[in-house]
Amino acid sequence: MLSVEEARERILANVRLTEAEEIPLLEAAGRVPAVASVTAAVDVPPFANSSMDGFALRAADAPGELPLTGEVAAGAATLPTVAPGSVVRIMTGAPIPPGADTVIPLEEAELVGDDRVRLPAAEVGRNVRPLGHDTRHGEEVALALEPLSASTLAVLASLGVGRIAVRRRPRVAILSTGDELAAPGEALGPGQIHDANTVSLAAAVLEAGGEPVLVPGVRDEPAAIDEALRDASTSADLVVVSGGVSVGRHDHVRAGIERLGELGFWRIAVQPGKPLAFGSIADRPVIGLPGNPVSALVTFELFVRILLRGMLGLAGDGRLHLPARLDTTVAKDRERRTYLRVVVRPGAGGWVASPAGGQGSAQLRSLAAANALLVVPEGEAAGMAGAEYDAVLLRGTP
Ligand code: AMP
Ligand code: MG
Repeated sequence: MLSVEEARERILANVRLTEAEEIPLLEAAGRVPAVASVTAAVDVPPFANSSMDGFALRAADAPGELPLTGEVAAGAATLPTVAPGSVVRIMTGAPIPPGADTVIPLEEAELVGDDRVRLPAAEVGRNVRPLGHDTRHGEEVALALEPLSASTLAVLASLGVGRIAVRRRPRVAILSTGDELAAPGEALGPGQIHDANTVSLAAAVLEAGGEPVLVPGVRDEPAAIDEALRDASTSADLVVVSGGVSVGRHDHVRAGIERLGELGFWRIAVQPGKPLAFGSIADRPVIGLPGNPVSALVTFELFVRILLRGMLGLAGDGRLHLPARLDTTVAKDRERRTYLRVVVRPGAGGWVASPAGGQGSAQLRSLAAANALLVVPEGEAAGMAGAEYDAVLLRGTP
């Protein structure tokens, strides 16, 4: 049995980046940039402008009562000149008109009749956003190697960038094997269960930045499995199979990988999830996950997610890790590293982890209730109440 680290190393050994594609900014949320920076082709803002609704003037002319000689709105293309001893009404975002060097907010001024304004003392540059205040023309604006966020997209948009080069999302074929599987929404026949993995793995692929391609309902027959594997490995960047990788009489996936390609390894010292087959067919990576729905999702988290991220150029699992103290002793398999489904929350002396429910590998509800996986190392027979372990947060925050 391989350790989790050894398995991860071997999975990442031959990872290939997907190519770059240029897409409109509006479609780029969550996509991974394929460029490290962009060069600003404009100043942001492109002209000095007002940060307030108010009056533009020469600071030296205030305090006093001055004639109102014009108006400048946001988007104005022609600007009135502010003559010495006069003021111009100005709106937020409007260009500072020639002659003016300050803006006094509406709230601090007092209109006298229709065409005069009484103003307090002013200060040069107040409420004026200078040209290039946020970014200078020609500046290299670095892009973090992470999925594009709303704020980074706003920066790009403000620079006038309309399209951006991003990594193509890896296509991930999801093959769910099992003669017992019925699609969600269908009534169950005798001996059948609903297929949970097609949906859960598709969602996990999307979350990790991939594009799922679904092949549900693959029969537990060598010919059916070979055909599905062959098709998938020609059309996808990565093939993920659920079920059929163990030692049962009807587990044909491992043998299928061996028949069509190469099997790298197939057992990992991890709980849940010992039987996990990794190999390649036609030069495409293939991962066979255990069929138990919890094992399938947890092993996806540990092994498929990092591979997908690697194809996008992203390092690591992209999860927040923090130390958390387990509040209940939970027995485990001594040989394997165990990922307990827990709820992590702030406690008196730091983060506290409580089991999120039953830890059986078909008990999905506790995985859905968990916000973290708590890592209890191999060599220990239990996660001990009071001991501190690494918690892998499955969502942004506890
Ligand atoms: P297997 O890995 O094929 O031996 O399956 C292990 C267990 O997971 C069995 O109880 C299967 O019925 C169950 N199982 C396999 N595939 C799925 C699936 N797609 N959805 C829900 N349960 C599954
Ligand atoms: Mg099966």
